[in-house]
Amino acid sequence: MDKYLVKSELETMKLGAIEEVEQAECECCGLKEECTRVYKRQVQERYCGKWVCGLCAEAVKERVVVVAMEDALNQHKDFCNQYNATTRINPKLSLTLSMREIAKRSLEKRKSMSKLGRSSSYP
Ligand SMILES: [Zn+2]
Repeated sequence: MDKYLVKSELETMKLGAIEEVEQAECECCGLKEECTRVYKRQVQERYCGKWVCGLCAEAVKERVVVVAMEDALNQHKDFCNQYNATTRINPKLSLTLSMREIAKRSLEKRKSMSKLGRSSSYP
């Protein structure tokens, strides 16, 4: 906690107090991340008022291609909960690696999809 406060103070000084840094907690995997208030709000607006970390956001975005945003968030949250429940050894690291795999796979999927001439609904 002390470490967080010190880092937060440094961050604020560096950014000249324009960008206030807050701690956000991922709705899906529970990962805590420091982000600016503006960024936090942007994410929340995009994900039904929920804040998700970068990795979960990637995974959720892929699901949204076939299901609604809220369903995608819930599905991914279940995935994270299952993962956290089954992976006891260094869950955070394993989760990160697993999500990287998902992101990589979905990137390949997107590439093959664009080959078929289907455009993604994401900018
Ligand atoms: Zn997350």
